[in-house]
Parts: sequence; C-alpha cells; structure tokens
Amino acid sequence: MQTLKKGNIFIVSAASGTGKTTLVSRLLAKHPDIRVSVSHTTRAPREGETDGIHYHFVDRESFEQLIRDDAFLEHADVFGNYYGTSFAGIESLRAQGFDVILEIDVQGAEQVRRALPEACSIFILPPSFEILAGRLKGRGTDSADVIQRRLNEAAKEIAQAAHFDYVVVNEDLDTAEADLSAIVRAGRLKQAAQRQFVEKLLENS
Ligand code: 5GP
Repeated sequence: MQTLKKGNIFIVSAASGTGKTTLVSRLLAKHPDIRVSVSHTTRAPREGETDGIHYHFVDRESFEQLIRDDAFLEHADVFGNYYGTSFAGIESLRAQGFDVILEIDVQGAEQVRRALPEACSIFILPPSFEILAGRLKGRGTDSADVIQRRLNEAAKEIAQAAHFDYVVVNEDLDTAEADLSAIVRAGRLKQAAQRQFVEKLLENS
C-alpha cells in the first residue's frame, strides 16, 4: 500500500441528483486553492465530458491493471462501472500546494476514511426523496432504467450519512455552499491539519 503526505483532503459524497457537482463547482470558484481529484472510470463519457478533465476514461482491462499496480487510494464498482481515485492524481495536486476534494461514492468514502482518518468527510443530502427523483429525471443525462437504479440506491447511500463528519442539506444552493465553505474552513483548522504549523512554531521558539 502506498502512503500519502499529510494535507487537507475533503471527501464529498451524496446520492446522485443531490446537486453535489454544482455545489463543488461553486466552492471551487470561491477557493482557487482547492482542486477536485480527477477519477478514473470505465463508464462511457457523457456529452460535454472531456477525458482528463472530468474523468480519465479507461477500459476495464486498464482499470484492473491499475488495481493490480496498487495505483488507487480507493476504488469501487458504482452502477456496474469502476471508479477510482489514483494516488498519483492526488499527489500531483498536493505537490502544487492544493487542498483536494474527492467527489466519490459512499464505498470509496469508507475506504478513504480507513486509509486516511484525518480526511474530512462531508455528506450532502437532498431536502426530500421527491425532490431527488425530480432532479434526476430533469437532468436528462441518463436512461429511465439508470434513473430507477440510482433512485433505488439513493436510500441505501443516504443511510451511510451517519458515518460522515459533516452533513449538508442542499435545499438552497447559496446556504449549502456557505455550509460547505464553513466546513472547509473548519477542516483546515483541525489540529491534525495545523500540526506542521505548530511544529514550525516550536522549532523557532
Ligand atoms: P457519475 O457516473 O454520475 O459521474 O458518478 C457516479 C457516482 O460515482 C457518483 O456518486 C460519484 O461521486 C462516484 N464517483 C466518481 N468518481 C469516483 C471515484 O473515484 N471513486 C468512487 N468510489 N466513486 C466515484
């Protein structure tokens, strides 16, 4: 198992259709020092998605080789496709001085929490199940079959909220974004995140 240098990692999970991607985009616009890790996936690109920007799109064989090479901090099968966060992707962002957001599913979140207990985990909830269903249908990116499967999974995923450090309800985008910003600020002030600062301070005492 590879190891990672200490730093700020924020895990953001939600059932699909909760507005997670919109919220994270708004957060990034306000915080130029945070980047989202680009995951690998075996799912096909959707319209408007670019390889290397939204995902690294790879075939199953390549993904399985990466698993064998121990390239992933976490990986999971989500709706029949592989998704994974590579060590290399996170490291290159941190080497450039960025804090990193992992927009990953609940299975991946659990793996990261185990590997990096200091990571700050955030779960985003829809205000209601009806609103979630409406958002998924309105998005128009997935077939009826996929939408139904995602709705079936949503309740199971939402039950996992109890394992996260923070829970944000995305009823109003501005409020949810402010909540997310507050969590990022608090996460950066956690003792573990401030350890290097304390050590430097003591060195110079
Ligand atoms: P989508 O196909 O809609 O882009 O993503 C489907 C689900 O996979 C979402 O919940 C998304 O957060 C999750 N996902 C995206 N990248 C990763 C990853 O690297 N690891 C894991 N475990 N889940 C991911």
